Amino acid sequence: MRCARRDTPVMRGRQIPAMTTGSSPAVRLRFPRDTGFHADLKRGAAAHFERAGLPRSGGAAMHLKTAIILAWFGASYALLLALGGTSGWVASALTVSLALATAGIGFSIMHDANHGAYGRTAAANRAWGLALDFIGASSHVWRFKHNTLHHTYANIDGMDADIDAGPFLRLAPSQPLRPFHRFQHLYAWPLYGVLAIKWWFVDDLVDLARGRIGSVVFPRPTGRQLATVVAGKAVFVTWTLLVPWLVFRSAWIAPLFLLGSFVLGLVLSIVFQLAHTVPETEFHAAFPGEQRMATGWAEHQVRATADFAPRNRLLGWYVGGLSFQIEHHLFPEVCHQHYPALAGVVEAACLAHGIPYRSHPTLRGAVAAHFQHLYALGWNGSGPPPSPRAQPPQQAREPLCAGAHRPGVIGGPGSTSQGDWVKGNLRSLSGAR
Ligand SMILES: [Zn+2]
Repeated sequence: MRCARRDTPVMRGRQIPAMTTGSSPAVRLRFPRDTGFHADLKRGAAAHFERAGLPRSGGAAMHLKTAIILAWFGASYALLLALGGTSGWVASALTVSLALATAGIGFSIMHDANHGAYGRTAAANRAWGLALDFIGASSHVWRFKHNTLHHTYANIDGMDADIDAGPFLRLAPSQPLRPFHRFQHLYAWPLYGVLAIKWWFVDDLVDLARGRIGSVVFPRPTGRQLATVVAGKAVFVTWTLLVPWLVFRSAWIAPLFLLGSFVLGLVLSIVFQLAHTVPETEFHAAFPGEQRMATGWAEHQVRATADFAPRNRLLGWYVGGLSFQIEHHLFPEVCHQHYPALAGVVEAACLAHGIPYRSHPTLRGAVAAHFQHLYALGWNGSGPPPSPRAQPPQQAREPLCAGAHRPGVIGGPGSTSQGDWVKGNLRSLSGAR
């Protein structure tokens, strides 16, 4: 007997629940069944690992990398406590070093671990996942906000908290345009710097108190999970504020803390933005009620994401493979050290299925593309550019490494082809010169 084909919310081969919002009716997003693209990706990745004879987790290479990053962190912290009193410049330089090492822990250790990609056992991943609590944010909230919401509903406004900066930034075309957004390409950068401190001391606590991430309800923490959150915050405040205070007994620890959190917030935010909020990535909006996406889950991830600087090995090492963000979204349970090798598998599958594979060749080009995105979304798309001085940088127009483009729309009920919208807007800006 032939079964009737039915839309199913599928993520990496398993069912995902519909998301209920705090206000009814619930948002129920469904991805259609895979039409062969996701199956080809999984087949290609399996063949790669079989050929290479490697596990999908990190192994010895990740242990070495972890040791290097932790040594960098430990040395920066120890030197800050030992020499921070000699001069403000020394203290500032060591604080910046400490913040960059802390971001390295976030990129390369906690991120993999909370995806279950760091070690071979769940216990090892859970233990290393606590590194996020150590550096200030709750791993419990992160696993729902990042693993479930962001990785399932990337660039879907209303579901992906990573593109929700409140009224301050317009990161998706479906978000309301406010007059001050016309300057967002300028003020976004310092704003990114305060996002870390907001994450540690506001977002986590508000999410837990409300039992919601944005409008999406998430399970209440158990007593043990709540104790972990509280202990993590206490440990973080101890090593960032209490210990320096006991050593220096100086009010200067406050501006140093702000400097470190600013550097950390800026670095973390920019790495995310370059992968998702550039003119080439596509956006959708979620609405209450039933909503069927136009593409399967895997194709959606590719269309909502862009790689950057794939040949910059030092950058890729530092950002934990997140410059291969498309590969990360397709294989989040695979350690990031395998992403460069999987990039060929993904690009070939995209080419075979006519799905655009977007990759900015350089970091500079990706930063310029994000600038363009902010600039374009700061205007409603119908008005003229405010001033020739605010033209997007020239290097933003460098060509992307792209596979075959399938012309057409990825839209569906309640969604928009926002990548095309932004590109059209930018074309109009270029033509106005
Ligand atoms: Zn992730």
